[in-house]
Amino acid sequence: MKSILLIVLDGLGDRPNPVLNNRTALQAAFRPNMNYLAAGGQTGQMHPVKPGIRSGSDTSHLSLLGYDPEKFYTGRGPFEAMGLGLDVRGGDIAFRANFGTRKENGEISDRRAGRISNGTELLAKDLSMNIDGVDFFVKAGVEHRAAMVMRGDNLSDMVTDSDPHEVGMKVHEISATGKSAEFTAEVLNKYLKEARKILDAHELNLERKKHGEPPANELLLRGAGLAPKLPLFREKTDLKGACISGIPMVSGICRLAGMDLINVIGATGKLDSNFSAKFAAAFEALGTYDFLIMNIKATDVAGHDGDAIAKKNAIERIDRAMEGIQNHLDDSVICITGDHSTPCVTKDHSGDPVPIVFNTSGIRKDSVKLFDEISCSGGAHNIMSGDVQRILLQLSDRAAKYGA
Ligand code: ZN
Ligand code: ZN
Repeated sequence: MKSILLIVLDGLGDRPNPVLNNRTALQAAFRPNMNYLAAGGQTGQMHPVKPGIRSGSDTSHLSLLGYDPEKFYTGRGPFEAMGLGLDVRGGDIAFRANFGTRKENGEISDRRAGRISNGTELLAKDLSMNIDGVDFFVKAGVEHRAAMVMRGDNLSDMVTDSDPHEVGMKVHEISATGKSAEFTAEVLNKYLKEARKILDAHELNLERKKHGEPPANELLLRGAGLAPKLPLFREKTDLKGACISGIPMVSGICRLAGMDLINVIGATGKLDSNFSAKFAAAFEALGTYDFLIMNIKATDVAGHDGDAIAKKNAIERIDRAMEGIQNHLDDSVICITGDHSTPCVTKDHSGDPVPIVFNTSGIRKDSVKLFDEISCSGGAHNIMSGDVQRILLQLSDRAAKYGA
């Protein structure tokens, strides 16, 4: 049976840009391989999540993998923690966190510890511990940002923040807001007490004080979220699946779904990522796996930067890197799309649909010849990301019969 390769160019969709003579980055790019797939395949536009919804990468990828975000998306906490590279498992409680500065009387004098830029990973490492059977993991992010995950039995996300959200206020004691959350609140307060001792005595903070800089001596927690327990992808679809991604959030979602992660050296999740190495790894893995999802982040990065030329260049490099993709159409169903639009003119995600192309040998092609937002809107499909899985199963002759 045919394998499936789902290529997600992050933030691919765009709007006409004056810098490119009112074309989108995709329209302006030299993209012979993408156009080849469009000319011989089925195209269309795809609404990430639902028409008009401006989705994040987390909700879109859940949906692309066939997990309804309305059912399985439990808030930013767990997905941001995955984004920082924490191993988040179903049932974990995750928090967004800041390193802040606490005065001796408990008041917060700076919620960002002077926008500390160095050494927070050392603090984070020392804040991972076990208390009363609960494991705590902390990972530092950019500047003062961090995430914390707790893992254990009988945990709940119905707890308040310790972050007072304004300076001059005392750090809050955490309390339960819902049923059976008392133990979680109690162990969190114990943990924060321990964390304060460690942070107050930490060499990095003693050094900062010596230099007149605000110490990062309080881990301010907010937005508790329960990591969803996803039904395993293998059980749901009967497909052996794997993921190739330079960004930890997408890898984290695939790991939650029980898929294998394929590490590619040089896959950075940035503009300088080694696209050729990723495609080579994907083509090779098609022999081992029924389903592969590959995320390339560079297009989203350029969109957020508002750099239409960089986005066009990234698309051209991606197109070159997929050279030879047409040799896999006999054995595989290939799909290229985005997880949402990130127009260079708005520098953020938009609710505009994204172009999508399906191709495999023997497919009933439509009349579209080019792969871009405008051309594909006249193609065979007008679908939501939740439909993509079903169409891939059908094109690879795996769809179960509906009725007699
Ligand atoms: Zn995205
Ligand atoms: Zn983005």
